[in-house]
Order: sequence, then C-alpha cells, then structure tokens
Amino acid sequence: MQRDTLVFDLINKELERQRHGLELIASENFASLQVIQATGNVMMNKYAEGYPGRRYYGGCEIVDQTEQLAIDRLKQIFNCEYANVQPHSGAQANAAVMLAVLQPGDAILGLDLSMGGHLTHGSGVNFSGKLYKPHFYAVTKNEGLVDYEMLETKAREIKPKMIICGASAYSREWDYARIRKVADEIGAFVMCDMAHPAGLIAKNLLASPFEHCHFVTSTTHKTLRGPRGGVILIKKDSENPFGLKDVKGNLRMMSNLMDMAVFPGTQGGPLEHEIAAKAIAFGEILTDEFTGYARQIIANAQAMAKAFAEKDYQIISGGTDNHLMLIDLRNKNISGKKAEAVLGKADITINKNMVPYDDKSAFVTSGIRVGVPAITTRGMNEGHMQFVVNSIDKVLMNPDDENVVAGIKKEVNEFMEQFKLYPELG
Ligand SMILES: *Cc1c(COP(=O)(O)O)cnc(C)c1O
Repeated sequence: MQRDTLVFDLINKELERQRHGLELIASENFASLQVIQATGNVMMNKYAEGYPGRRYYGGCEIVDQTEQLAIDRLKQIFNCEYANVQPHSGAQANAAVMLAVLQPGDAILGLDLSMGGHLTHGSGVNFSGKLYKPHFYAVTKNEGLVDYEMLETKAREIKPKMIICGASAYSREWDYARIRKVADEIGAFVMCDMAHPAGLIAKNLLASPFEHCHFVTSTTHKTLRGPRGGVILIKKDSENPFGLKDVKGNLRMMSNLMDMAVFPGTQGGPLEHEIAAKAIAFGEILTDEFTGYARQIIANAQAMAKAFAEKDYQIISGGTDNHLMLIDLRNKNISGKKAEAVLGKADITINKNMVPYDDKSAFVTSGIRVGVPAITTRGMNEGHMQFVVNSIDKVLMNPDDENVVAGIKKEVNEFMEQFKLYPELG
C-alpha cells in the first residue's frame, strides 16, 4: 500500500504549528513522545469487549495486562478502590456515571455552562440535559465564586438525584465537604468532574474530592497529560459507603453498576491502544518529575495572573488556585471572539469564553480563558510569563494593526525556538 502522503503532510504541518505557537488553551497539553507513540500500536486491532479476565472475545491475554496496569496505576495515583479506564472521553465517563445511578427524568444540579460548567452537566443541547431534568447553580456576581448558598437552596428545593461539581472554566478551589453535606441531607449522589485540575489533585496541590464525592470522573488529556480519553474513579470500600436509602450498595455493587454503564451501557469495544497509552501516562504521573511539573503549573499560573492584573486585566474571582484563569475583556473594548481571532494570527492560541453574567452570546463572549499546562510542559517557568502576557497585551491593544500583530507573531515564533517539542520527530 502506498503511503498516504496527503494525510502525513498534514500531520507534519500540525507538528510545526504546535512547535511554533504559544499554546494557552487551558484544556490542552503535550503528551510525552512515548504516550503518543503508544497510541499508534497494534492493540488498535483488538476487540476486547468486557473487562480484564472477563471478555467476550478470545486473544485478550495481553491487552488484559495493559488494561490492568492502567487500572492499578490510576488507583495508586488517587488512592482509590475502583477505577474504569475505558471511557473514550470525559463526556463518555460522565454519561456512564449518570446512566449507572440515574433514571431518565431524574433531576440533576450542576454549575451553569455560562458560569464555567460543562456541556455534560445538564446543557440542553447535550444528552445530560435531554435525558435528565437539569438545574443549575451559579457563581456570585461580585466575587465570581461558586454560590454555595444558592446551591444549597436549590438542592433542598429541587431534591436532585445528583449534584455535579467541577468545571471547565473555574479557577478556584471547591468546597466538596459542603456539597456532600447538603447531598446527604436530601439523599443525592455527588459527582465530581475533575477533568481540568486532575493532574494537580493527583499531586495533592488542590483539595481532594475523593473523600466527599461518590464518583469522580476525569479526562486523561488535560493536566493529566495523557492520551485523549476519560476515566471513572470511586474511593471507598465499606459496608455502605454511599449512605443511600435506595442504593444499598457496597463497593462491589457500585463497581459492577459502573462497569456495566461503560460497557455495554454506553460503549462497545474499548480502545486498548489508547488504554496502553493511558497506562504509560499514569506511570509518568507517579514519578517525582510530574510532581515538579504540577508545582510549576501553579507557579506559572500565579505569575501569569499577577502580570495580567498589573496591566489592568480583570481576572474573574481576582486570581487563580489552579492552572487557568478567566479574563473579562470588557474594560479592554474587545470581545472574546475578536481576541481569539487576532491572537490566533500571532500564533497565540486561547479560546473565547463567556464570563459570569455575560451580556454577549456564547459565539461572541466577553472573555477569554487562558491556561498554562501546555506551556509548562514546553519548559516555561515564572520568568517567561511576562513575555507571554506582554505579547497578548500588545495584540489585544492593537487588534487592527496588521504590522503589530505580524511583529508579535515573529517574536512568538522566535521565542518558542528555545522550547523544543518532540525533537526526536525531526
Ligand atoms: C473537558 C471536559 C470534559 C469533556 O471531555 P471530552 O474528553 O472532551 O469529552 C468534561 N467535563 C469537564 C469539566 C471538562 O472540562
């Protein structure tokens, strides 16, 4: 078979784009070369419906071992009793948890999408808002912090079967204990979706959701720096860890429910090549090197927030505890949409994002979301954040001046030369 140069040329162009640009999308990262190489392996050819040791297909002895390794390493990272590494994505992980413990029509309570929540937490265009009855809590208008009083009031009023915490654009710590307290009062499950900050939670740099949340889901490709995918975790093994009236479960029952909800509930055959890559990424997370990486993420985010604040950028909640920040650009007279487009011309990649109580639509938005996991993987430290913020500021202050934007693009490309990305790929 002739090599498909058309597609491989495009893959190489994407590599060059990643090398030359400043990647500030908060949900992106650069997986290690061994993780990337493992995603292109022959396990892709294998059907393995089921779980290690109990499959519906023959020939699974070897993929059983990689999947078990991924499970064991993930459980070790988060000190959990149960892990499922098969969800193809974060959205799939959330779908499985909901399928496992909710009935169609049950009420759920999550953070509003326009306040930093995620589509899978009850949005009307998503399965979660179509199959279940979605309700939302917000962040406070002044501080931009989760409005726990509103959450509690709504929880008592609506009595949802599940309260969802975790977000895509929230830069602050969560009070999981407070959420669990009201959940216990009304007999609701708590699901934490730690898709964004999981890598920081893995290294105890943020509060752990595991003691307080019945289920924890995550992506594997954001701060966990693995291949694209999802996981589900459960912490406890005791007689009735969930304290629920209608699900008299011990961990075994809940594990079975969860396994069944992933396969056959929401997925068919697992992606065993991706699971092999997950196992490698989880091994990397267990190293001290990753601890240093996670600490550097926080240091970089702090330095970046300070540099933005010094230039009078309005950071929602006034700063960050994690790897990202949400910036309201209304005092800078530029929309999120325009900012995203013009920064893109300077090879600086961010995403437009609604800010809490935004008066612009989701297509235009008043804000941008900026994150440091990817540039931290490239090797940047606090000292580099001033250059990053200066570059963004010059572009946003001169969005219609093509010479300025082209000049910044040149500076960015030269700056990125020092941070080698996949040098082995030539
Ligand atoms: C990114 C994200 C997801 C979805 O992950 P996909 O892998 O894109 O499906 C789910 N929840 C939250 C909070 C996220 O930020």
